[in-house]
Amino acid sequence: ATVKQRFDELKGPCVSLEFFPPKTESGKRNLLARMERMCALNPLFITVTWAAGGTTAEKTLELASIAQRELNVPVCMHLTCTNMNREIIDQALKSARDADIRNILALRGDPAIGEEWSAEGDSEFKYAVDLVRYIKKNYGDDFCVGVAAYPEGHCEGEADESSQDPIRDLPYLKEKVDAGADFIITQLFYDVDKFLSFERLFRENVSADIPMFPGLMPINSFLLFNRAAKLSHAAIPKHILDRFPASVQSDDNRVKEIGVEILIDIIEQIHERTNGRIKAFHFYSLNLERAIAQIVAKSPTLSKILEEEDNDEEWDSEIVLQDVDTLTLDDD
Ligand code: FAD
Repeated sequence: ATVKQRFDELKGPCVSLEFFPPKTESGKRNLLARMERMCALNPLFITVTWAAGGTTAEKTLELASIAQRELNVPVCMHLTCTNMNREIIDQALKSARDADIRNILALRGDPAIGEEWSAEGDSEFKYAVDLVRYIKKNYGDDFCVGVAAYPEGHCEGEADESSQDPIRDLPYLKEKVDAGADFIITQLFYDVDKFLSFERLFRENVSADIPMFPGLMPINSFLLFNRAAKLSHAAIPKHILDRFPASVQSDDNRVKEIGVEILIDIIEQIHERTNGRIKAFHFYSLNLERAIAQIVAKSPTLSKILEEEDNDEEWDSEIVLQDVDTLTLDDD
């Protein structure tokens, strides 16, 4: 099924989950077991990341294909187009199609640190919109295509935050939607007000009904939380930072507990302040399950997933509690 079809049939609240391909065989085995357990959350779809330039092409395709075949959940494969030629892109799309993957998240990507844009100016694929157009033109209805959006504005490289402006990006986001994008996943954020004002801006100016999934990253350690927010140019509101006094910053267990409360708060606020219109939440899982399991179990909105009658999978909290999050950001 496609993300769009699943979304159109959606009744209650739900989640979707992002994973990245581990580097080693054992990392992959661990992750697949974990993904299978997380299917108890009945995710609307799962996504597998793609490293810009195609350096993870094989591993991304492999993980996405196994997941599509074995997990009974629609897979969405990320695909970037920067520094990639048409052959690599076609190869990726054809392999995905052969593996029954029906969803692609079409991205521009960033050049690797220290690398320049190659062939900028005359490259066929300069922006994500070029990839959206290419897929729609050459692959028709084979793929349901998602695109990225930035509630606080997209930031290029090391540029400082004052250069971010969602209003400036809006025409380009509209271009992607007009080119046929079927759904949107946002960059992670912790500032609910900023997300809601962006969503309103988008609804009024671009599209009233295309599905938009707010991107959320659980907080697993104070250091990683700050690093991820910085890398993503996501502001951390003062009232959230204030919940981590110096005395708890190095206590990972306490940080995780507070993180779960913060994420639940974000979810409940978005659900309530949009009158339930936004009910599907996308998690940047970092290949970790425990925080997400706890967020879903304790969130008044998302815990409904676990109560659904047609959800015959059982969430085994024992496994979750025993599960020590051994995977780090780099996995292995
Ligand atoms: P675009 O939509 O092309 O936008 C890039 C910038 O160019 C924006 O500032 C936009 O406003 C501007 N722009 C667009 N069109 C024009 C135009 N015609 N003229 C002038 N300016 C224009 N990266 C990876 O490498 N792998 C991944 O798997 C990955 N997954 C991601 C998933 C999500 C949900 C998100 C939000 C990001 C992800 N990224 C990933 C990061 C992404 O590749 C970078 O943020 C990248 O810098 C922008 O990609 P984009 O697709 O949003 O680009």
